[in-house]
Amino acid sequence: MDNDVIVVGSGPNGLAASIFLARAGLKVLVLEAKESPGGAARSMELTLPGFIHDAGSAIHPMAAGSPFFQSLDLWRFGLEWVHPPVPLAHPLPDGIPAASLLRSLPATAALLGRDAGNYRRLMEPLVSRWRQIAGDILQPIPHLPRHPLPLAQFGLRALLPAQALIRGYFQEEPARALFAGVAAHSFLSLSAPASAAIGLVLAMMGHGPGWPFPRGGAQSITSALVACLRAAGGQLECNAPVHSLADLPPARAILLDVTAWQFLRLAEGRLPSAYRAVLERFRHGPGVFKIDYALDGPVPWLDETCRRAGTLHLGGSAREVAASEHAVSTGRVPDHPFVLAAQHTLFDSTRAPAGKHTLWAYCHIPFGSSFDMTSRIEAQIERFAPGFRDRVLASHAMGPAQLEAWNPNLAGGDINGGASTLWQLICRPVLSPTPYRTPLPGVYLCSASTPPGGGVHGMCGFHAARAAFADVFA
Ligand SMILES: Cc1cc2nc3c(=O)[nH]c(=O)nc-3n(C[C@H](O)[C@H](O)[C@H](O)COP(=O)(O)OP(=O)(O)OC[C@H]3O[C@@H](n4cnc5c(N)ncnc54)[C@H](O)[C@@H]3O)c2cc1C
Repeated sequence: MDNDVIVVGSGPNGLAASIFLARAGLKVLVLEAKESPGGAARSMELTLPGFIHDAGSAIHPMAAGSPFFQSLDLWRFGLEWVHPPVPLAHPLPDGIPAASLLRSLPATAALLGRDAGNYRRLMEPLVSRWRQIAGDILQPIPHLPRHPLPLAQFGLRALLPAQALIRGYFQEEPARALFAGVAAHSFLSLSAPASAAIGLVLAMMGHGPGWPFPRGGAQSITSALVACLRAAGGQLECNAPVHSLADLPPARAILLDVTAWQFLRLAEGRLPSAYRAVLERFRHGPGVFKIDYALDGPVPWLDETCRRAGTLHLGGSAREVAASEHAVSTGRVPDHPFVLAAQHTLFDSTRAPAGKHTLWAYCHIPFGSSFDMTSRIEAQIERFAPGFRDRVLASHAMGPAQLEAWNPNLAGGDINGGASTLWQLICRPVLSPTPYRTPLPGVYLCSASTPPGGGVHGMCGFHAARAAFADVFA
């Protein structure tokens, strides 16, 4: 019997879409190009036997807070969240104690000295309504919000450049650097409009669902989603690359967990020129350079708080973080990159042999750059953890070219399926209340190139599947 639905790609969004449609009683087949499902949410022994590394995503506030994933009760399929005692630490220069984001908003504020009151004023209205705000922002922007007041409180602050928000709210380095670090997840210059948005979302999620990671690796999210799909009757085939829409077996709906640029290639001239022109104008974000380490012991951080943190932001002062992100946004390789790191094995012994540890780290670089950032990343780690290099047993680096070979959605090292500029958050990849719909009847885009964009949350897949169901099957 023919399938009702074919989903191309088994990243978090492809799996979310396929689960939604399989649970609606449809016959769903997922075709995945690679040997294993999960896209950029996969874990593997990249260095030495017994060391499990998250080759892509590693820290999952968006997955833990995703309204769709929450509705699936993924714990029933083996997913277990690990919450480090300190979700995020940001070590500082000149002997200033590290700034940290704790799960508790009052406890975080209490560590911010003269900025305590302002941090609470900034975050309390968001944190107290994080579920409503997350529901409203994790959908296409042209949609009418269900909770306009909390969303307006968020939006007024989110539209600011991060540097303007920092200047307006904070006087001292810990709060300034802490916010600069979370805002830098946007891959935007911190002087760009709306570069505060991601910082506010991530800080809000840190105080809401937390910044946890899955026991066993990001792969555990994928394994739980695949188990959930199979329980709903869906099927998954790996080693099944799709080179053209024309090659697909018959189905009433096709959902594509591929980027906007891959869609142009898969559709092979079948798209109307106006739509094609919009997709051709869609811009990539910068790339990443990623290193995984197998270590002989924990990272020897100078600051005690860093030894209890799941995530580390290594970039020094707010000014230094801004300089690094500004360099990347203007096409330059930063001399002192802002490094994002995670140390899972301190809190999850399943990922390394007894007494051994891993470190996951990446920094931003210009799109498609082939520059080897290894020594610059290691210099940032050594700056806050002298002796780190002596603990390294093995390492594995991936620049943009290697990331793309591993997962075609990561072309040029862009991990978000397109830049997260204000314009591209609204037009992702087209301006429409249903940007998942394409001009080809029954064909939908469901990857991070659609709203709400990058991250492991499955909400692009969920919204695309809802649109496909309403159009084709309702
Ligand atoms: C190094 C790195 C670090 C990251 N860190 C985090 C993090 O800590 N937290 C977080 O939330 N997010 C993080 N992300 C981002 C997150 O992983 C992605 O935004 C998310 O995986 C996007 O999901 P997706 O389903 O849209 O695409 P992907 O996960 O990229 O999956 C796409 C899938 O489609 C398949 N595919 C593509 N083309 C075809 C084809 N023609 N035929 C068949 N199959 C095809 C691919 O092989 C892949 O399996 C990170 C990503 C990377 C690379």
